[in-house]
Formats: sequence, C-alpha cells, structure tokens
Amino acid sequence: LGVPDVVVVGAGIVGAACAYYASRAGLSVTVVDRAGVAGGTTGAGEGNILVSDKEPGPELDLALRSHTLWRALDIGEVELEAKGGLVVAASEPEWRALQAFAATQTGVESEPVSPWELEPGLARDVCGALYYPQDLQVQPMLAAARLLQGIPVRLGVTVNAIEPGRVVTGDGAITAGAIVNAAGVWAGSLGALPILPRRGFILVTARRSADLVRHKVYAASYVSNVASGEVGLQASAVVEGTRAGTVLIGSSRERAGFDQAMSLPVLRVLARNAIRLFPALAEVPVIRAYRGFRPYTPDHLPVIGPDPRVPGLYHACGHEGAGVGLAPITGKIIADLIAGRPSDVDLTRFRPERFA
Ligand SMILES: Cc1cc2nc3c(=O)[nH]c(=O)nc-3n(C[C@H](O)[C@H](O)[C@H](O)COP(=O)(O)OP(=O)(O)OC[C@H]3O[C@@H](n4cnc5c(N)ncnc54)[C@H](O)[C@@H]3O)c2cc1C
Repeated sequence: LGVPDVVVVGAGIVGAACAYYASRAGLSVTVVDRAGVAGGTTGAGEGNILVSDKEPGPELDLALRSHTLWRALDIGEVELEAKGGLVVAASEPEWRALQAFAATQTGVESEPVSPWELEPGLARDVCGALYYPQDLQVQPMLAAARLLQGIPVRLGVTVNAIEPGRVVTGDGAITAGAIVNAAGVWAGSLGALPILPRRGFILVTARRSADLVRHKVYAASYVSNVASGEVGLQASAVVEGTRAGTVLIGSSRERAGFDQAMSLPVLRVLARNAIRLFPALAEVPVIRAYRGFRPYTPDHLPVIGPDPRVPGLYHACGHEGAGVGLAPITGKIIADLIAGRPSDVDLTRFRPERFA
C-alpha cells in the first residue's frame, strides 16, 4: 500500500467523515481503530442531525453547513430521514423563552404549531410548541460504515502515541504525511487536549405503533442542559419514534468519568420525564438501556484544526452531543486543510491551541 498521505485515528462517524472527504480530495487514506467501525460513542448514541438546539454562534454555523452536506452525501442507504423536531414548553415563561431563543437562530426555520396535530399522543398540558422542519435523523453506525467504503481500515490496532509524521501502534509504526486525531472522547489523552466524558443513557421501548411518537420531540429545557457545564446529572425529556416502532428515550448528561455502570435512578428519571410528555408510554415496556460517553470540551465546541505543537497533526474531536450532525463539515474542513484548499469556515473558535 506504501505510505498513505493521511492516517486517521478513529473509525467513528467523525473519523469516517474525515477519511471520506480526504479520499474525495484525492489523498490516499488509512484508518486505524482499536475496536470496530462505530465501536466508540458513535455506536452508543442517537442519530439526530439537529439545528433546533443550537444557540447562534460558531456551532450553529457549522451545524447549518453540515446539514447541507448530510443532505448532499451520496453514499447509499443510511436511513436519513427529514423527520423534523418538535420542541415543547411546559409553562408560559418557558414558552416565551423558547420563542425568544428561536428568534435569535438565524438560518434556522421554526414555526409555532398546535403540537397535538403533529403528535396526537402528546400530554394536554403543554403551553406551546415550535416545529423545526430542518432537523434530520440518520443511522450513525451505518453512515460510518458507508463513508468508509473503499478506504483501507485497520481494526483491532491501538495507537499508543502520535509523533510528527507517524503513529506508533501496538502493531508497529505507521508513517503518513498527515495524521488526524479523531479518537472521540479518547482523543484527549492521545492529543493532549482537555476532552472529558459526558455520560448519557438511552432507554429503548418495545415495539409499538410507529405512530405513537412521530417526530423527535423534546422539552425546551433540553437546550439549557446541553449548554450547561454542570458535573451533576442533567436530564430533560427527549423522545423519538423509530421506523421499527421502538421509542428511544433520553436524555441524560453527567460527568461521571468513564463509569460504565447502569444507573437505575437516572433511567427512572428518563422514564418519568418521557411519560410526562407522552402519557401512553407508561404502558409500554422498556426492552433495553445503553449508555455512551460524549466527548465534552470545557467550552462546548469541537476541536478542529492543526496542532501547532506537532507538525502534520490535525484534530477532529470533542463534538460532545453533536458529533453525528457535525461529522461531514468536520471531515470537509480537515480534508481541505490537508489538501491545502481554501475554506470559508472561520476556525478561530475551534483551534486546539485555545486551551493553552
Ligand atoms: C446517549 C448519546 C446520545 C447522542 N445522540 C446524538 C445525536 O442524536 N446526534 C449527534 O450528533 N450526536 C449524538 N451524540 C454524540 C455523538 O454520538 C458523538 O459526538 C460522536 O459519536 C463522536 O464521534 P467520534 O467519531 O468523534 O467518536 P467515536 O465514535 O467515539 O470514535 C472514536 C474511535 O476512536 C477509537 N479509538 C480511541 N482511542 C484509540 C486509540 N488509542 N487507538 C485506536 N483507536 C482508538 C475508538 O475505538 C472509536 O471507534 C450522542 C451521544 C450519546 C452518548
């Protein structure tokens, strides 16, 4: 195979997107992952491509660009669905705050709706709701695999260190012109960056009528939970139906290190919040629960760009709860940087050296 132009560390959705766009830019690419494709957080989350939850600023700008790229990707079936998001307010002050928030989201479409027309099963005591038609959904594991089609991927290979021009693995060194650190929540230790795990649980119900929950529906309080830097548990109702008829229930956020243990108290809070939103869920059994570790950075922004400390190293990590949504634009930026092509994205806020 010779020396590749690019080695991407990590076969999650972000690494896969970097590899895809680098390969499309004419670069030869090898991807290395110690586990399998989507064996990290990508395989332990959900697949929402949201613009509705982003406050105005650099992340929303990325999200809108990425939304366009997701729609344009031609990689085969990835269960991309223009599902739309319904955000519901539980009180009059919350409703006023939600409308004020939406008014600041330049480039994001939203409209006040009678929520029961879209979701007949929704609780009756909702004070107001906005519908966000641009919100999409995708199957992230399938998407990662599709993005990597035709690209050499070495699985079961652990990268122990990144050095200028090479990665040192348990299987020998791999030399490359450029190295992309897309190791998700583990990218911090590989690339000396302050990336921490922010744990989240998901409940999955038994199959019911696909009509029980038709959109992605979430409580307005979710937006402030996402933006918070709290260490302790934050939970707000995020409920969505799947084509198969199961309902996915989130969302919790807590910084509990890499503690893998299931937490019954957290799962109970998730169930209770979801039932408050969709009372009929009280009758639907839960079949399983899983958890994942979002790659959290202290300023809630991803790390995208070259590392001034290590020539040839580029970071593409720290996307926290939005890595699926932001993967294509991240991959495109990294490929443009490596290929020396101009980009019109302002990377100032995403620079690795902002933490120095
Ligand atoms: C409960 C939950 C719900 C979520 N819902 C959404 C959502 O709806 N929408 C959204 O956009 N995002 C969501 N997210 C966040 C999203 O899943 C992540 O932002 C995204 O998956 C990060 O992708 P990644 O490729 O950066 O990391 P990962 O998927 O973790 O990939 C990193 C890869 O690097 C590999 N690796 C690590 N260290 C090494 C090493 N030393 N050597 C070799 N390989 C290594 C790992 O094995 C892994 O495969 C959710 C997360 C959680 C936990």
